[in-house]
Amino acid sequence: MAKVLCVLYDDPTDGYPTSYARDDLPPIGHYPGGQTAPTPEATDFTPGHLLGSVSGELGLRHFLERAGHTLVVTSDKDGDGSVFDRELPDADVVISQPFWPAYLTADRIATARNLKLAITAGIGSDHVDLDAAIAHGVTVAEVTYSNSISVAEHVVMMTLSLVRNYLPAHQVVLDGGWNIADCVTRSYDLEGMHVGTVAAGRIGLAVLRRLAPFDVKLHYTDRHRLPREVEEELGLTFHPTTADMVPHCDVVTINAPLHPDTEGLFGDELLATMKRGAYLINTARARIADRDAIDRALRDGRLAGYAGDVWYPQPAPADHPWRTMPHHGMTPHISGSSLSAQARYAAGTREILESWLTGRPIREEYLIVDGGALAGAGAHSYSVTT
Ligand code: NDP
Repeated sequence: MAKVLCVLYDDPTDGYPTSYARDDLPPIGHYPGGQTAPTPEATDFTPGHLLGSVSGELGLRHFLERAGHTLVVTSDKDGDGSVFDRELPDADVVISQPFWPAYLTADRIATARNLKLAITAGIGSDHVDLDAAIAHGVTVAEVTYSNSISVAEHVVMMTLSLVRNYLPAHQVVLDGGWNIADCVTRSYDLEGMHVGTVAAGRIGLAVLRRLAPFDVKLHYTDRHRLPREVEEELGLTFHPTTADMVPHCDVVTINAPLHPDTEGLFGDELLATMKRGAYLINTARARIADRDAIDRALRDGRLAGYAGDVWYPQPAPADHPWRTMPHHGMTPHISGSSLSAQARYAAGTREILESWLTGRPIREEYLIVDGGALAGAGAHSYSVTT
């Protein structure tokens, strides 16, 4: 019987919800490109309910306990003596979400003698030391595509929010004011601007598709080029590198994984080549941008705005400079954890567990590391140093 250790974010401050703003979710059977949404044999939750917090338990408890397995759910993941550290040594499976990552470092993997499977309930497994997972024969899987469109929608929202100066204008209303000039002196139209994405994978391409109707000029860079028909359909300009692309852009959105090639990419040097007053949206991973260089670029006007939902570490400390830097539109890490996304990644987590617990192969699309090497989707999107 397996012990499953699941690290989830805390419940709402006023308690686990007893009612919701809406009654249902639109059914999503397939993702762009044809991949099917998760296909577990069954689920024990109501789509649209809060599943990603501790009391939601990703809807897994009944399923696991009925089959004799043990489920431990906690939000206590950091610091000496955390529940996560205490429960890890005999856990067979660890489940964590990027929004509240249980960092599976090399040291922790070394202490987790039974660990065989690390599931990311969502997308982005960089909180797992993939080199260590490979060395210890741990399988890593994530619920590919489950929240890609959720994030793309967040990118579009943040792009418009920054360019149109939405958040400061909303604050004027909250403060009881009506000074139009205060609201509009930093407000522009997106129309006609040059928008570029660093990476055009599932999220990056979805962002391009969603922004195309705004009559912008679209740019991208990626390790592989998109099919010619997609470039023509969207009027895309391809640039071989990020450094080639960013000087042309009014808005840059980062949609690449964090790995050794992208860590620290947006530092002083690259930011200095961007147009004065450019906007940078990063919903990928915080460490792709240099924390203090972003703060400096906003203060000296190189960037007109920065937004995103990814921080390092998570949760961000109260004195993190991105909380107080000017002209930012940050949220906590929420873009991929809408109630809509939760229903999909909870179902995908269940699908992965059903496969693994019965000795069936996990969907190739979900695999990041398997059999001591990068595998499946991971072989395409991730890099390791080994
Ligand atoms: P995909 O794997 O579909 O796409 C990633 C793309 O990045 C691929 O096209 C890949 O290229 C490209 N790429 C990798 N390295 C580089 C590089 N150095 N320069 C340019 N392009 C590069 O991933 P997704 O679109 O689904 O997700 C992207 C990232 O977004 C995730 O890794 C994750 O960190 C983050 N994310 C954030 C979420 C949130 O809640 N904020 C939720 C989900 C994901 P190639 O195909 O050529 O290898």
